[in-house]
Amino acid sequence: MEITPSQIIGFRNSQRNGPVFHGYNPATGNPLNIPFQEATAEEINESVELAQNAFKTYRKTSPARRIQFLEAIAANIEALGDDLLYTINEETALPLARLIAERSRTTGQINLFARLLQDGKWNTEIIDEALPERKPAPRPELIQIQKPIGPIAVFGASNFPLAFSVAGGDTVSALAAGCPVIFKAHPAHPATCQLVGRAITNAAKETAMPEGVFSMLHGLSNETGSMLISHPFIKAIAFTGSFKGGKAIFDLAMRRKEPIPVYAEMGSVNPVFFLPHAVRLGGETLVSQFAQSVTMGSGQFCTNPGICVFINNEESKSFIQKLAATMSATPIQPLLTRGIAEAYKSGLDKQKKLYGAHTVVRKSGNGIRPSVISVSVKDVLNNRDYFEEVFGPSTIAVLAEDLEEMRQIIEAMPGQLTGTVHAAERDHEAAKELIDLLTQKVGRVVMGGFPTGVEVCHAMVHGGPYPATTDSRVTSVGTGSIYRFTRPVCYQNIPSAMLEI
Ligand code: NAP
Repeated sequence: MEITPSQIIGFRNSQRNGPVFHGYNPATGNPLNIPFQEATAEEINESVELAQNAFKTYRKTSPARRIQFLEAIAANIEALGDDLLYTINEETALPLARLIAERSRTTGQINLFARLLQDGKWNTEIIDEALPERKPAPRPELIQIQKPIGPIAVFGASNFPLAFSVAGGDTVSALAAGCPVIFKAHPAHPATCQLVGRAITNAAKETAMPEGVFSMLHGLSNETGSMLISHPFIKAIAFTGSFKGGKAIFDLAMRRKEPIPVYAEMGSVNPVFFLPHAVRLGGETLVSQFAQSVTMGSGQFCTNPGICVFINNEESKSFIQKLAATMSATPIQPLLTRGIAEAYKSGLDKQKKLYGAHTVVRKSGNGIRPSVISVSVKDVLNNRDYFEEVFGPSTIAVLAEDLEEMRQIIEAMPGQLTGTVHAAERDHEAAKELIDLLTQKVGRVVMGGFPTGVEVCHAMVHGGPYPATTDSRVTSVGTGSIYRFTRPVCYQNIPSAMLEI
């Protein structure tokens, strides 16, 4: 399939004189052929103005029309067939089986939003009926309705080229809410973005959506994103990526003349607590399941378990040794970008130099070394750098002297996306306490499983207190994510005929 590089501005392609950049194949280390250009200031401005204009009508489209649009997006992505998978594979080195699964997750989540609109309950009106006879003052009728907030700028992450990218949860929840989207394409998979961006634009044309309901801009430097964030017509930002990127974008949005909400989903170390009876009963199966959770996708998941905590005894030490052995025997795929590979290496070097760190495994696997470092609770409490995410196939095993030390780890740790407890029946009392403490620090508490693997559904919370995200009240995965792009409006004493759209 031929890929024509361009910005997608409403229904047209645009290619001005922005600096040229190329994608990169992580498997070969070579740059790819297609020359992409960074969006110019005019192109950014045109896309945002079109979005502002589209908002005037798109915000009033019926659920039925938005459903048609969403379903057409899913169908057009499916229609790209294997060409899409090969393009992503070339840009990310992610295996085809994983990409097939990610594609069905992506189209599945689009169709889930279509069903949400169909059902309509997500925007049930809250009505306080008029009380004309009330004394001393009558009450007027009050109706609260969720309304879309305006054009949204969306930034995706490199590690989910479909599910957290152009047609990922952020874009789809914003479109479902009635907000136009301008997507900043990720420079780690620009050709993938081009294909999916075109699939969305075609869906918009096929279903007669207003031009500007979706645009996509390329950019290698942070300039493109910064200009987009600063544009006065942008009403919110959805970001998935690193803490550094998310915090920079949040700060920029707060410095605007009109500050706007930033929903930044960032990195996390996702602690896993292994209580003693669970370690004993779990045996080798638990070791290999946990090793798989740490190393799957080369550890490039925001829910990767970067810290695991054990009670200090011989069984735990043996578990950690077996974990290290299993991880060192696991083949590791190349990391997604040179930047991620360098950050992984320097992150491990930094960890290794921290006081108390004891390296259990750093064997080479395809050039990428999985890592297990063991450390005591006291060392972690004395050095909070242990809580920093090292994005890749690594984990820190923390040995606690007792349950109290496990509690201290939870109390000391910054906000996380997830927290997990492994407990056999005889551990349940301790598990209850840990779960209660974790509830105050994480967006999702898991028992007996692993944090990797995020279900797309109604109850999901993919979020958590800062620094896991910049707004702990929302989720970026699942149908609840739609509320990031609406705001409640109260209509007081307005005849219902006037509220019809
Ligand atoms: P990244 O480097 O932060 O990039 C994400 C996006 O943000 C890119 O489009 C990037 O554009 C843009 N960006 C970064 N810094 C910026 C700045 N200062 N100004 C404007 N734009 C900026 O992250 P990544 O390497 O793609 O993804 C890996 C990270 O994502 C990991 O930390 C992982 O834990 C996290 N992640 C989190 C979730 C979640 O749901 N919480 C999900 C997946 C991944 P440029 O490349 O042009 O700078």
